Amino acid sequence: MAQRSFQTVTIMRREGTERMTGKSQTTPNREVKMARIRGIAHAVFLVGVALSASVVSGETLTINARRRIPSAEAPGAFRMVNDKQTWPAEQTAIIICDMWNRHWCRGATARVKDMAPAMNRVVSLARDKGVLIVHAPSSCMEAYAADPARQRAREASQENLPDWLARWNNGLESEKGATWPIDQSDGGCDCRPQCPQGSPWTSQIDTIDIREGDAISDSGLEIAAVLRQRGVHNVIIMGVHTNMCVIGRPFGLRNMARWGMNVVLMRDLTDTMYNSRRPPY
Ligand SMILES: [Zn+2]
Ligand SMILES: [Zn+2]
Repeated sequence: MAQRSFQTVTIMRREGTERMTGKSQTTPNREVKMARIRGIAHAVFLVGVALSASVVSGETLTINARRRIPSAEAPGAFRMVNDKQTWPAEQTAIIICDMWNRHWCRGATARVKDMAPAMNRVVSLARDKGVLIVHAPSSCMEAYAADPARQRAREASQENLPDWLARWNNGLESEKGATWPIDQSDGGCDCRPQCPQGSPWTSQIDTIDIREGDAISDSGLEIAAVLRQRGVHNVIIMGVHTNMCVIGRPFGLRNMARWGMNVVLMRDLTDTMYNSRRPPY
């Protein structure tokens, strides 16, 4: 599956709100930007990718995909490629990864808190258009044991789904030999002093609404089952952290790409665990 791709999505609402992209652009309301990562061969962040999309009226998402292709002429340089895609909203899901109420890193916790209201607005808009919303706060399922959204995920048939959807994915075929672009071996906390690691999360942050028709799960198999049941072919992943759970979770970018989904990462609704006092600085 070397040529499977994932994509990154950024739903922009109004000018001045763009995050994480290092660029300032004026975008009309409801414009969605997506970034696409194709052939992770050169590591996600190097191939980089960017897709830009517009959520338009009705039940269609028009996506202006933008991705970065390694340059053949100049090693280390990239070419930006844009293309436009149209996604039926009812064949699209958003997976919200690990937007926990608390992280062991106080900086990470603060950034999630900061990002969540914007994410909630995007999710609400998408839900209204018919997009399936999947809340995936890993290791917090107990908090939702009685929630109908949790039930929906548990009850979907997993018949004949590949068993690797139950597991983490540490690398696609296309990533073989690639160099990971950052040193995250210290866990990525950039606070001073560094935060002690642990597992303090108990639920998703409460500024992201869970509504009727949504699903809750942290299982790759359950999530794949719900997507299949709903006829979903396009997946938008948002949440944290790009370089860890978002890419590697059983329901993350790699597994969704391997499973054949047209998957994107919403690049202004994600965050990275990276301590800039580590390479590449
Ligand atoms: Zn920290
Ligand atoms: Zn994580």
